[in-house]
Amino acid sequence: MQFRTLGETGLAVSALALGGSPLGGVFGQVEERDAISTVHAALDAGVNFIDTSPYYALTKSETVLGRALQGIRRDRYYLATKVGRYGADEFDFSAARVKASVDESLKRLGVDYLDVIQCHDIEYGSLDQVIEETLPALREVQREGKARFVGITGLPLKVFETVLARTEVDTILSYCRYALNDTGLERILPLLEAKGVGIVHAAPLAMGLLTDSGPPPWHPASREIQEACARAAGHCKRRGRSLARLAMQFALANPRLHTVVVGMASVAEVQQNIACLDEPLDEELLREVQTILAPIHNQTWPTGREENRL
Ligand code: NAD
Repeated sequence: MQFRTLGETGLAVSALALGGSPLGGVFGQVEERDAISTVHAALDAGVNFIDTSPYYALTKSETVLGRALQGIRRDRYYLATKVGRYGADEFDFSAARVKASVDESLKRLGVDYLDVIQCHDIEYGSLDQVIEETLPALREVQREGKARFVGITGLPLKVFETVLARTEVDTILSYCRYALNDTGLERILPLLEAKGVGIVHAAPLAMGLLTDSGPPPWHPASREIQEACARAAGHCKRRGRSLARLAMQFALANPRLHTVVVGMASVAEVQQNIACLDEPLDEELLREVQTILAPIHNQTWPTGREENRL
Protein backbone atom coordinates (compact mmCIF):
# COMPACT_ATOMS: atom_id res chain seq x y z
CA MET A 1 0.00 0.00 0.00
CA GLN A 2 1.14 3.55 -0.66
CA PHE A 3 0.46 6.24 1.92
CA ARG A 4 0.05 9.98 1.43
CA THR A 5 -0.34 12.81 3.92
CA LEU A 6 -3.86 14.22 4.10
CA GLY A 7 -3.03 17.91 3.85
CA GLU A 8 -2.12 19.51 7.15
CA THR A 9 -4.03 16.94 9.20
CA GLY A 10 -0.81 14.92 9.19
CA LEU A 11 -2.82 11.68 8.80
CA ALA A 12 -0.90 9.16 6.68
CA VAL A 13 -3.77 7.85 4.60
CA SER A 14 -3.71 4.93 2.18
CA ALA A 15 -3.76 5.97 -1.47
CA LEU A 16 -6.77 3.69 -1.91
CA ALA A 17 -9.65 4.13 0.52
CA LEU A 18 -12.92 2.31 1.12
CA GLY A 19 -16.18 4.05 0.26
CA GLY A 20 -19.06 2.90 2.40
CA SER A 21 -22.11 3.59 0.25
CA PRO A 22 -22.25 0.18 -1.51
CA LEU A 23 -21.99 -1.58 1.88
CA GLY A 24 -25.53 -0.54 2.64
CA GLY A 25 -26.83 -1.62 -0.77
CA VAL A 26 -26.88 1.74 -2.58
CA PHE A 27 -25.57 0.10 -5.77
CA GLY A 28 -27.59 -3.11 -5.38
CA GLN A 29 -28.33 -5.70 -2.71
CA VAL A 30 -25.29 -6.77 -0.66
CA GLU A 31 -25.48 -9.48 2.00
CA GLU A 32 -24.25 -8.25 5.36
CA ARG A 33 -21.63 -11.00 5.61
CA ASP A 34 -20.23 -9.94 2.20
CA ALA A 35 -20.14 -6.30 3.29
CA ILE A 36 -18.26 -7.28 6.44
CA SER A 37 -15.77 -9.46 4.51
CA THR A 38 -15.21 -6.54 2.12
CA VAL A 39 -14.27 -4.23 5.01
CA HIS A 40 -11.95 -6.85 6.50
CA ALA A 41 -10.29 -7.57 3.14
CA ALA A 42 -9.68 -3.86 2.58
CA LEU A 43 -8.13 -3.40 6.05
CA ASP A 44 -5.98 -6.52 5.60
CA ALA A 45 -4.72 -5.12 2.29
CA GLY A 46 -3.54 -1.93 4.01
CA VAL A 47 -6.51 0.36 3.36
CA ASN A 48 -6.72 2.63 6.40
CA PHE A 49 -9.27 5.29 5.40
CA ILE A 50 -12.99 4.55 5.36
CA ASP A 51 -15.70 7.02 4.33
CA THR A 52 -19.40 6.73 5.07
CA SER A 53 -22.46 8.84 5.85
CA PRO A 54 -25.79 8.50 7.66
CA TYR A 55 -27.35 9.18 4.24
CA TYR A 56 -25.99 6.00 2.63
CA ALA A 57 -28.87 3.52 2.57
CA LEU A 58 -30.49 5.64 5.26
CA THR A 59 -28.02 4.73 8.06
CA LYS A 60 -27.54 1.10 6.97
CA SER A 61 -24.02 1.75 5.66
CA GLU A 62 -22.91 3.11 9.05
CA THR A 63 -24.65 0.27 10.90
CA VAL A 64 -23.06 -2.48 8.80
CA LEU A 65 -19.69 -0.74 8.95
CA GLY A 66 -19.98 -0.52 12.73
CA ARG A 67 -20.54 -4.28 12.89
CA ALA A 68 -17.56 -4.90 10.60
CA LEU A 69 -15.31 -2.72 12.76
CA GLN A 70 -16.26 -4.43 16.03
CA GLY A 71 -13.17 -5.90 17.66
CA ILE A 72 -10.76 -4.16 15.28
CA ARG A 73 -8.15 -1.98 16.95
CA ARG A 74 -9.17 1.66 16.59
CA ASP A 75 -5.67 2.72 15.52
CA ARG A 76 -5.84 0.48 12.43
CA TYR A 77 -8.16 2.81 10.51
CA TYR A 78 -9.22 6.42 10.00
CA LEU A 79 -12.97 6.87 9.92
CA ALA A 80 -14.79 9.67 8.13
CA THR A 81 -18.52 10.24 8.18
CA LYS A 82 -20.84 13.15 7.48
CA VAL A 83 -23.64 15.35 8.75
CA GLY A 84 -26.36 17.40 7.11
CA ARG A 85 -27.77 15.01 4.50
CA TYR A 86 -30.25 12.37 5.57
CA GLY A 87 -32.23 11.50 2.44
CA ALA A 88 -32.40 12.29 -1.29
CA ASP A 89 -34.19 15.53 -0.45
CA GLU A 90 -33.61 15.70 3.28
CA PHE A 91 -31.05 18.20 4.52
CA ASP A 92 -30.53 19.86 7.89
CA PHE A 93 -27.37 21.87 8.44
CA SER A 94 -28.51 23.43 11.74
CA ALA A 95 -26.06 23.29 14.66
CA ALA A 96 -28.45 21.29 16.84
CA ARG A 97 -29.13 18.65 14.18
CA VAL A 98 -25.51 18.16 13.12
CA LYS A 99 -24.33 17.81 16.72
CA ALA A 100 -27.01 15.21 17.42
CA SER A 101 -26.10 13.52 14.14
CA VAL A 102 -22.47 13.08 15.22
CA ASP A 103 -23.61 11.32 18.41
CA GLU A 104 -25.93 9.06 16.41
CA SER A 105 -23.12 8.17 13.98
CA LEU A 106 -20.67 7.41 16.81
CA LYS A 107 -23.22 5.02 18.27
CA ARG A 108 -23.95 3.25 14.96
CA LEU A 109 -20.26 2.99 14.14
CA GLY A 110 -19.40 1.75 17.64
CA VAL A 111 -16.52 4.20 18.12
CA ASP A 112 -15.91 7.06 20.51
CA TYR A 113 -14.34 9.43 18.00
CA LEU A 114 -14.27 10.09 14.26
CA ASP A 115 -11.16 11.09 12.37
CA VAL A 116 -12.98 13.36 9.95
CA ILE A 117 -16.48 14.80 10.23
CA GLN A 118 -17.73 16.28 6.97
CA CYS A 119 -20.61 18.51 6.08
CA HIS A 120 -22.37 16.47 3.36
CA ASP A 121 -23.25 17.90 -0.08
CA ILE A 122 -23.18 21.52 0.98
CA GLU A 123 -24.44 22.76 -2.41
CA TYR A 124 -27.92 21.77 -1.21
CA GLY A 125 -27.73 24.16 1.72
CA SER A 126 -27.18 27.83 2.29
CA LEU A 127 -23.41 28.34 2.21
CA ASP A 128 -23.88 31.23 4.66
CA GLN A 129 -25.41 28.78 7.11
CA VAL A 130 -22.69 26.19 6.47
CA ILE A 131 -19.97 28.79 7.14
CA GLU A 132 -21.62 30.63 10.03
CA GLU A 133 -23.45 27.81 11.82
CA THR A 134 -22.60 24.28 10.67
CA LEU A 135 -18.82 24.46 10.55
CA PRO A 136 -18.58 26.27 13.93
CA ALA A 137 -20.80 23.51 15.40
CA LEU A 138 -18.42 20.89 13.96
CA ARG A 139 -15.46 22.76 15.47
CA GLU A 140 -17.23 22.39 18.84
CA VAL A 141 -17.59 18.68 18.14
CA GLN A 142 -13.84 18.67 17.45
CA ARG A 143 -13.09 20.48 20.74
CA GLU A 144 -15.22 17.91 22.57
CA GLY A 145 -12.91 15.21 21.20
CA LYS A 146 -15.61 13.54 19.11
CA ALA A 147 -13.85 14.28 15.79
CA ARG A 148 -10.24 15.06 14.98
CA PHE A 149 -10.76 17.06 11.77
CA VAL A 150 -13.54 18.90 9.94
CA GLY A 151 -14.32 18.81 6.22
CA ILE A 152 -16.90 19.54 3.54
CA THR A 153 -18.16 17.53 0.56
CA GLY A 154 -19.94 18.33 -2.68
CA LEU A 155 -20.07 17.99 -6.46
CA PRO A 156 -19.83 21.58 -7.81
CA LEU A 157 -16.30 22.85 -7.32
CA LYS A 158 -17.51 26.37 -6.74
CA VAL A 159 -18.69 25.45 -3.23
CA PHE A 160 -15.14 24.64 -2.16
CA GLU A 161 -13.84 27.95 -3.53
CA THR A 162 -16.63 29.89 -1.81
CA VAL A 163 -16.18 28.25 1.59
CA LEU A 164 -12.37 28.42 1.51
CA ALA A 165 -12.51 32.14 0.70
CA ARG A 166 -14.39 32.73 3.95
CA THR A 167 -13.28 30.10 6.46
CA GLU A 168 -10.95 27.15 7.05
CA VAL A 169 -11.62 23.47 6.68
CA ASP A 170 -9.17 20.61 7.20
CA THR A 171 -10.35 18.43 4.31
CA ILE A 172 -12.57 18.47 1.27
CA LEU A 173 -14.17 15.46 -0.40
CA SER A 174 -14.83 15.96 -4.09
CA TYR A 175 -16.49 13.20 -6.10
CA CYS A 176 -16.68 12.30 -9.81
CA ARG A 177 -14.49 15.29 -10.74
CA TYR A 178 -11.20 13.49 -11.41
CA ALA A 179 -11.97 10.58 -13.65
CA LEU A 180 -11.55 9.55 -17.28
CA ASN A 181 -14.60 11.62 -18.23
CA ASP A 182 -14.11 14.66 -16.00
CA THR A 183 -10.90 16.22 -14.68
CA GLY A 184 -12.50 19.45 -13.49
CA LEU A 185 -11.00 19.02 -10.02
CA GLU A 186 -7.61 20.08 -11.44
CA ARG A 187 -8.91 23.66 -11.47
CA ILE A 188 -8.99 23.91 -7.68
CA LEU A 189 -5.97 21.77 -6.76
CA PRO A 190 -3.65 24.82 -6.54
CA LEU A 191 -6.06 26.51 -4.12
CA LEU A 192 -6.39 23.39 -1.97
CA GLU A 193 -2.63 22.88 -1.93
CA ALA A 194 -1.94 26.52 -1.05
CA LYS A 195 -4.29 26.22 1.92
CA GLY A 196 -2.94 22.84 3.04
CA VAL A 197 -6.37 21.21 2.74
CA GLY A 198 -6.57 17.41 2.73
CA ILE A 199 -7.83 16.25 -0.68
CA VAL A 200 -10.14 13.25 -0.68
CA HIS A 201 -11.11 12.19 -4.19
CA ALA A 202 -14.19 9.99 -4.19
CA ALA A 203 -15.96 7.96 -6.87
CA PRO A 204 -13.07 7.31 -9.31
CA LEU A 205 -15.48 5.06 -11.24
CA ALA A 206 -17.88 8.00 -11.52
CA MET A 207 -20.44 6.09 -9.42
CA GLY A 208 -20.44 3.15 -11.82
CA LEU A 209 -20.34 5.06 -15.12
CA LEU A 210 -16.81 3.80 -15.72
CA THR A 211 -17.52 0.09 -15.25
CA ASP A 212 -18.33 -2.70 -17.69
CA SER A 213 -21.76 -3.21 -16.18
CA GLY A 214 -22.57 0.50 -16.26
CA PRO A 215 -24.16 2.77 -13.64
CA PRO A 216 -27.15 2.06 -11.39
CA PRO A 217 -30.59 3.27 -12.58
CA TRP A 218 -30.51 6.29 -10.23
CA HIS A 219 -27.32 7.68 -11.79
CA PRO A 220 -27.80 11.42 -12.46
CA ALA A 221 -25.59 11.71 -15.59
CA SER A 222 -27.27 12.68 -18.87
CA ARG A 223 -27.96 10.07 -21.55
CA GLU A 224 -25.13 11.55 -23.62
CA ILE A 225 -22.60 11.02 -20.81
CA GLN A 226 -23.91 7.51 -20.08
CA GLU A 227 -23.76 6.51 -23.75
CA ALA A 228 -20.20 7.83 -24.19
CA CYS A 229 -19.05 5.88 -21.12
CA ALA A 230 -20.80 2.75 -22.39
CA ARG A 231 -18.92 3.16 -25.72
CA ALA A 232 -15.65 3.45 -23.79
CA ALA A 233 -16.49 0.30 -21.81
CA GLY A 234 -17.27 -1.56 -25.06
CA HIS A 235 -13.98 -0.42 -26.58
CA CYS A 236 -12.01 -1.70 -23.57
CA LYS A 237 -13.89 -5.01 -23.67
CA ARG A 238 -13.07 -5.50 -27.36
CA ARG A 239 -9.42 -4.87 -26.51
CA GLY A 240 -9.63 -7.50 -23.74
CA ARG A 241 -9.26 -4.81 -21.04
CA SER A 242 -11.42 -3.28 -18.34
CA LEU A 243 -12.60 0.34 -18.21
CA ALA A 244 -12.86 0.15 -14.40
CA ARG A 245 -9.26 -0.91 -14.17
CA LEU A 246 -8.10 1.95 -16.37
CA ALA A 247 -10.21 4.39 -14.33
CA MET A 248 -8.64 3.18 -11.09
CA GLN A 249 -5.12 3.37 -12.53
CA PHE A 250 -5.86 6.90 -13.75
CA ALA A 251 -6.98 8.20 -10.34
CA LEU A 252 -4.30 6.38 -8.35
CA ALA A 253 -1.55 7.71 -10.61
CA ASN A 254 -2.12 11.30 -9.46
CA PRO A 255 -0.17 11.92 -6.23
CA ARG A 256 -1.87 15.30 -5.74
CA LEU A 257 -4.98 13.38 -4.66
CA HIS A 258 -4.25 12.30 -1.11
CA THR A 259 -6.61 9.37 -1.11
CA VAL A 260 -8.93 7.83 -3.71
CA VAL A 261 -12.18 6.57 -2.17
CA VAL A 262 -13.78 3.79 -4.18
CA GLY A 263 -17.00 2.10 -3.16
CA MET A 264 -16.51 -1.65 -2.89
CA ALA A 265 -19.05 -4.36 -2.29
CA SER A 266 -17.04 -7.59 -2.48
CA VAL A 267 -13.67 -9.07 -1.66
CA ALA A 268 -13.08 -9.54 -5.41
CA GLU A 269 -13.48 -5.78 -6.00
CA VAL A 270 -11.03 -5.07 -3.18
CA GLN A 271 -8.50 -7.43 -4.77
CA GLN A 272 -8.98 -5.92 -8.25
CA ASN A 273 -8.59 -2.36 -7.02
CA ILE A 274 -5.60 -3.15 -4.82
CA ALA A 275 -3.91 -4.71 -7.85
CA CYS A 276 -4.28 -1.39 -9.71
CA LEU A 277 -1.91 0.24 -7.20
CA ASP A 278 1.02 -1.66 -8.67
CA GLU A 279 0.01 -1.35 -12.30
CA PRO A 280 1.44 1.32 -14.57
CA LEU A 281 -1.16 3.48 -16.28
CA ASP A 282 -1.97 1.95 -19.67
CA GLU A 283 -1.14 5.10 -21.67
CA GLU A 284 -2.22 3.74 -25.06
CA LEU A 285 -5.63 2.61 -23.84
CA LEU A 286 -5.96 5.89 -21.92
CA ARG A 287 -5.51 7.91 -25.12
CA GLU A 288 -8.09 5.79 -26.96
CA VAL A 289 -10.63 6.10 -24.15
CA GLN A 290 -10.02 9.85 -23.78
CA THR A 291 -10.73 10.25 -27.49
CA ILE A 292 -14.05 8.41 -27.10
CA LEU A 293 -14.95 10.53 -24.06
CA ALA A 294 -13.74 13.86 -25.53
CA PRO A 295 -17.23 15.06 -26.58
CA ILE A 296 -18.47 14.86 -22.97
CA HIS A 297 -15.23 15.79 -21.20
CA ASN A 298 -15.86 17.81 -18.02
CA GLN A 299 -19.62 17.64 -18.51
CA THR A 300 -21.28 17.06 -15.17
CA TRP A 301 -24.86 17.21 -13.89
CA PRO A 302 -26.67 19.85 -11.87
CA THR A 303 -26.91 19.34 -8.12
CA GLY A 304 -27.99 21.58 -5.28
CA ARG A 305 -29.11 25.15 -5.32
CA GLU A 306 -28.76 27.13 -8.52
CA GLU A 307 -26.42 29.68 -6.92
CA ASN A 308 -24.01 26.96 -5.77
CA ARG A 309 -23.49 25.29 -9.16
CA LEU A 310 -20.45 25.18 -11.50
P1 NAD B 1 -17.48 4.66 -7.24
O1 NAD B 1 -17.10 5.49 -8.39
O2 NAD B 1 -16.45 4.38 -6.22
O3 NAD B 1 -18.10 3.31 -7.82
C1 NAD B 1 -18.65 2.35 -6.96
C2 NAD B 1 -19.29 1.25 -7.79
O4 NAD B 1 -18.28 0.57 -8.53
C3 NAD B 1 -19.93 0.19 -6.91
O5 NAD B 1 -21.03 -0.36 -7.60
C4 NAD B 1 -18.83 -0.84 -6.76
O6 NAD B 1 -19.35 -2.10 -6.42
C5 NAD B 1 -18.24 -0.81 -8.15
N1 NAD B 1 -16.82 -1.23 -8.23
C6 NAD B 1 -15.82 -1.03 -7.34
N2 NAD B 1 -14.67 -1.55 -7.80
C7 NAD B 1 -14.93 -2.09 -9.02
C8 NAD B 1 -14.14 -2.74 -9.99
N3 NAD B 1 -12.83 -2.95 -9.80
N4 NAD B 1 -14.74 -3.16 -11.14
C9 NAD B 1 -16.05 -2.95 -11.35
N5 NAD B 1 -16.86 -2.31 -10.47
C10 NAD B 1 -16.30 -1.89 -9.31
O7 NAD B 1 -18.77 5.35 -6.55
P2 NAD B 1 -19.19 5.59 -5.03
O8 NAD B 1 -19.21 4.33 -4.24
O9 NAD B 1 -20.43 6.39 -5.07
O10 NAD B 1 -18.04 6.53 -4.50
C11 NAD B 1 -17.04 6.06 -3.61
C12 NAD B 1 -17.28 6.53 -2.20
O11 NAD B 1 -17.01 7.92 -2.12
C13 NAD B 1 -18.70 6.36 -1.69
O12 NAD B 1 -18.93 5.04 -1.30
C14 NAD B 1 -18.69 7.37 -0.60
O13 NAD B 1 -18.02 6.87 0.53
C15 NAD B 1 -17.89 8.51 -1.21
N6 NAD B 1 -18.74 9.52 -1.92
C16 NAD B 1 -19.08 10.65 -1.27
C17 NAD B 1 -19.92 11.58 -1.89
C18 NAD B 1 -20.30 12.82 -1.15
O14 NAD B 1 -19.80 13.09 -0.07
N7 NAD B 1 -21.17 13.63 -1.69
C19 NAD B 1 -20.41 11.35 -3.16
C20 NAD B 1 -20.02 10.19 -3.82
C21 NAD B 1 -19.17 9.29 -3.19
